[in-house]
Order: sequence, then structure tokens, then C-alpha cells
Amino acid sequence: TRKQASNHDHLFKVVMIGDSDVGKSNILSRLTKNEFSHDTKSTVGIEFGTHNMKMDNKKIVKAQIWGSAGKEKAPFYKKAAGVMIVYDVTRRVSYENVKKWLTEVKTYVSANVVIILVGNKVDMHDLRVVTTEEADAFAKKENIVFMETSALKSTNIFDSFNELLKQIYDIFN
Ligand code: GDP
Repeated sequence: TRKQASNHDHLFKVVMIGDSDVGKSNILSRLTKNEFSHDTKSTVGIEFGTHNMKMDNKKIVKAQIWGSAGKEKAPFYKKAAGVMIVYDVTRRVSYENVKKWLTEVKTYVSANVVIILVGNKVDMHDLRVVTTEEADAFAKKENIVFMETSALKSTNIFDSFNELLKQIYDIFN
């Protein structure tokens, strides 16, 4: 029998949540395939992906990313080490609902899970209604990481996952 060489030192599960249409599947397809689609979810929707990152000490961390929950919440959240909560900076209700998503996370995931709050669609300057300052203040209060992204322009997509993975890695080491 041949020895199977693993291509990573650590494997972490990350789940993406947030209201529908905030851009979760496009963030994931930008990250994993460098693709963006203007169409709605029904035609693109990618729901699973992986992303590797090399830490400063050369260790390779692999993220297994779940982009959408099925009917059952428990298996979706099971063993998640990281959570990305996405809202749309042009839709205030998607930002208000972040509180509900945080409550759900606290119900299903262990307390030491790393959470990153992501405000997506920052390319739509004229339509923005949620400011950087208010979301940043909220994230600080909740003690979670915050970043603004654009899946369309590929802004901060890699940085946000890498920041999440770095924080997860720090907890486990
Ligand atoms: P999901 O339901 O959260 O997975 O959202 P989708 O990824 O399906 O995106 C919903 C809609 O928003 C689609 O029409 C996308 O093209 C659009 N969209 C997603 N991300 C961005 C972005 O960064 N900028 C802009 N302008 N549109 C986006």
C-alpha cells in the first residue's frame, strides 16, 4: 500500500451565512474559481469549495467552505471552526439581520468559533446605505473581525478568508 501524502497540515470547516442575495455564492466562486456571475443564485449557486493558505511558519491550512445550509441547520454548522456572516452594504435589512445570524451561530456552534463579519457589494458606491463606521463599531462590540468586500471587483475576497483562517489557526496553536 502506498502512503497517501496529505497536501495540508490542518483542515478547518468554514460556513458562510447571511440573508439570501447578499453575495455568498459569488464570494465563494470568486475565491475558488475567480468567477463572478451577474445572474441570480438559481443559475450559479456554488455551495461548496476549498481554499488553501500558507501560514508564516510554512504550515498549510486548508479551509473546507460550506456556502449554504440545507434544510437541516445542525449538520451544516457541525464542527465549524469559522463562520463568515455576509450582509449587503446596499440593503440595510441584510445588515439588521446580522444580529439574528449571530444568535443562530451561538445556538449551533461552540463558543470558540471565529466569526468574521463581511459587508459585500462595496463597488456599488451610490447605493450604499450601511456605513463602514457603524459596522466596524458593531463588530468591535461583538468582538468579531470585520471586512468589506466586493465579489464583483474581487476586493478583499482573499484577505477576508485568510484573516479568518489566521485567527482559527491561532486558536488551535
Ligand atoms: P447569495 O444568495 O447570498 O449566494 O447571493 P449571490 O452570490 O447569488 O448574489 C446575489 C446577487 O448579487 C447576484 O445577482 C450577484 O451578481 C450580485 N452580487 C454578488 N456580489 C456582488 C458584488 O460584490 N457586487 C455587486 N455589484 N453585485 C454582487
